[in-house]
Amino acid sequence: MNKTVGVLGGGQLGRMFAEAANRLNIKVLILDKENAPAKQILGTSNHIVGSFKDSHAIRQLAAECDVLTAEIEHIDTLVLEELTQSGVIFEPHWRTVATIQDKFDQKQHLKSAGIALADSISLDSGSVDELKRVAEVFDFPFMLKSRREAYDGRGNLPIMSKDDLDHGSDFCKDRKVYAERWAPFKAELAVMAVKTKDGVLSFPTVETVHENSICKLVYAPARNLSRATADKAQQLARKAVAAFEGKGVFGVEMFLLENDQLLINEIAPRPHNSGHYTIESCPISQYDAHLRAILDLPIPPSSLEMREPAVMLNILGSATGGSIDPFITAALSNPRTSIHLYGKGPATTPGRKMGHVTVTAETMAEAEQLIQPLIDVFDKHSG
Ligand code: ATP
Ligand code: MG
Ligand code: MG
Repeated sequence: MNKTVGVLGGGQLGRMFAEAANRLNIKVLILDKENAPAKQILGTSNHIVGSFKDSHAIRQLAAECDVLTAEIEHIDTLVLEELTQSGVIFEPHWRTVATIQDKFDQKQHLKSAGIALADSISLDSGSVDELKRVAEVFDFPFMLKSRREAYDGRGNLPIMSKDDLDHGSDFCKDRKVYAERWAPFKAELAVMAVKTKDGVLSFPTVETVHENSICKLVYAPARNLSRATADKAQQLARKAVAAFEGKGVFGVEMFLLENDQLLINEIAPRPHNSGHYTIESCPISQYDAHLRAILDLPIPPSSLEMREPAVMLNILGSATGGSIDPFITAALSNPRTSIHLYGKGPATTPGRKMGHVTVTAETMAEAEQLIQPLIDVFDKHSG
């Protein structure tokens, strides 16, 4: 296992991936800004300083590594295509990332693989007239989504009524946008799927709770879900991920509708916020699984089962610029609570992911009870 893995991107996902690699004595090099979160915990001066969108920097990383992977999908895939042709290994496949990084292409790809998802319409100019035609098909509300560079809800604009059409049209001016039919969900679910050289495995079905389009809480396993629906979510996630080339972990987000029908919302070709709970809850985490999948190391399927139910709460920066210290102080003395801080600068950007906590307990009811005081502190802090 004396392989060196190169990671495009060194944020919190890269940092937790590095923690997993460190435990297996596997060397990791990061391409990102100086002192990025993942670089802070890896003792080497050989990291590459630069952007994961810069072809020159990606070539530099490739020259130092045996296998490349990414913690973010917004990367330069053209250079990865070229490097792959000359024998460089990138997982998952560059074509997978290229398809997924354009949300409309991603949805078209899933649709052609027979996966259920909300209907979408690609937009031309996004004029008010064009949006009116979308409303005739989808009715209100519907969602406008930026095709590229979207994360944490930042590329989404709900169009609630005809009063929002002007604003919607402005939103379309400086980006490529598509329209998506509203999904009247009763819950959002997620499954971390692991694509190996042999097939697709999956971690349990979890429930995600978003506030202002940003993931706030993850309940693992999902609450109030029948065994049949949890299993259906597993099958759907595995089928969706099987439609893509390459190896590694994929985060699959889903909508659960009133009639228990499941629709895929989106797929991330990498470890995912909804899978952080696996660090404390499962024998191997999503980061361990990603590492093992891309290096063809064994993954016993039962190692993806939960040892204990868990609730995860994100620690987010607040608009009021309040420090996250009171939250950390509370979390340190909260029972059965694991704290992860990401080594990022000031917490003054609203919604910026600064860290997370995970509480595990014998039952979900107990885990919910234990984390409640921290949710209260969080709500006060982000107030
Ligand atoms: P992420 O941080 O997960 O990458 P993102 O910016 O890619 O987020 P989406 O996952 O597309 O954004 O949407 C964010 C949230 O907005 C969803 O989790 C859901 O709560 C809501 N949402 C998205 N699409 C729809 C839809 N078609 N109908 C209703 N709600 C939606
Ligand atoms: Mg997304
Ligand atoms: Mg999402």
